[in-house]
Amino acid sequence: MSFENLGLSVELLRAIKTQGYTTPTPIQTQAIPAIFEGKDILAGAQTGTGKTAAFALPLLQMLSTNPSLKKHRKPRVLVLTPTRELAAQVGESMQAYGRLLSLRSTMVYGGVNINPQIDRFKRGVDIVVATPGRLLDHAQRRTIDLSSIEFLVLDEADRMLDMGFIKDIRKIVNYLPKDRQNLLFSATYSSSIKKFADDMLNHPMHIEVARRNTAAEMVTQYVHPVESGRKRELLSSLIRGQKWNQVLVFTRTKHGANRLTKQLISDGIQAAAIHGNKSQNVRTKTLASFKNGVVRTLVATDVAARGLDINSLPHVVNFDLPNIPEDYVHRIGRTGRAGQKGEALSLVCREEQGFLMNIQKLLKQKISVKEIEGFQMEKSTTFAKKTPEKRTKSQWKSKSRESASNGKRGRFTQTAPGRTRFTQAPGSKKRGVRP
Ligand code: AMP
Repeated sequence: MSFENLGLSVELLRAIKTQGYTTPTPIQTQAIPAIFEGKDILAGAQTGTGKTAAFALPLLQMLSTNPSLKKHRKPRVLVLTPTRELAAQVGESMQAYGRLLSLRSTMVYGGVNINPQIDRFKRGVDIVVATPGRLLDHAQRRTIDLSSIEFLVLDEADRMLDMGFIKDIRKIVNYLPKDRQNLLFSATYSSSIKKFADDMLNHPMHIEVARRNTAAEMVTQYVHPVESGRKRELLSSLIRGQKWNQVLVFTRTKHGANRLTKQLISDGIQAAAIHGNKSQNVRTKTLASFKNGVVRTLVATDVAARGLDINSLPHVVNFDLPNIPEDYVHRIGRTGRAGQKGEALSLVCREEQGFLMNIQKLLKQKISVKEIEGFQMEKSTTFAKKTPEKRTKSQWKSKSRESASNGKRGRFTQTAPGRTRFTQAPGSKKRGVRP
């Protein structure tokens, strides 16, 4: 299959060539014709599969071959993404693919001045790529008119739900015309995604390019057992010993990201942190320094790293394992993109073995364990040898309580037989509400 066979216009084919794409990826081969046919789509595709071009190319073509007859341009395509970084990336891709077309696209997200966004709407735009919070703000202030939207794209829908955007999205949808084409992309399928898709989509065509909840197949994964107090030493030794030039390191908390970054710098490694407490400006600059090689090690939290598109990122390290197994899939999806090989290493201490088992259960595979000379753990630790995951009844109960608390710290107290109440610990925030 070639891009020419997908019925794309000369302008788009030229733009694709400039990007260096020669053949369409599986998601592009399947989604582009279906979108041209006007179908709603439910696509199981991870970041790195080429999903952005899979929706951007046909939408750009449909807009340009069927221009709006209205005098003032109102947005006709709305793309919702979970993070500012992803909105910026999708917006940049739209501009790159559509550079030979006379369409206008704009990115809309929080953390930056709202007025330039309002000015752009006033001048007229065709495509809006936005995060839900700021877009809803515009819709409620009536600074954007969403009554001409013909196409709605929900990109990384699973992550938008994880981040608590569902209410905002439902409110936004109320501003849209009922008659529109909907495209939903999600890396993972949970029951909440299925329900959301049922509500949003009209007889969608299902497209699945990676097996459900599987880790990117091009990624080699290893677990390095290590005592928790020696993780930083091991990381520095790996970065230096293996001469890594570009590595993305995940920590569970913002504080952990800051601390690790300082320690790596004191070890003589160029490192920088990216997380939700950093301003958009700093995040953009940090990402640019990482992409151009000034910063070798980028330390990130899950939410901040979501949507980072770094071509051929070779190494991802889980400094801490995520307590939500799906986050592992998202993390390692930062490498092994667009057919390139990648390596994902997890530094796992004794206390994290439960997380590891849950991850392996989700992946339905064991991750190879590789001990590193000089960092072995005491022999008493049988590392991830047990089959995941045989919990006793009471363990299941406490696990479901943990998920009922939605990642917040706190405790459950029994209020009546069979009933419990969750009291959030002071200062414990709901996970991932803001990137
Ligand atoms: P995405 O899944 O949309 O985040 O895309 C991941 C990466 O693949 C981006 O860097 C794209 O530029 C690249 N890409 C998209 N489509 C193709 C293609 N057909 N051939 C090669 N690279 C592609």
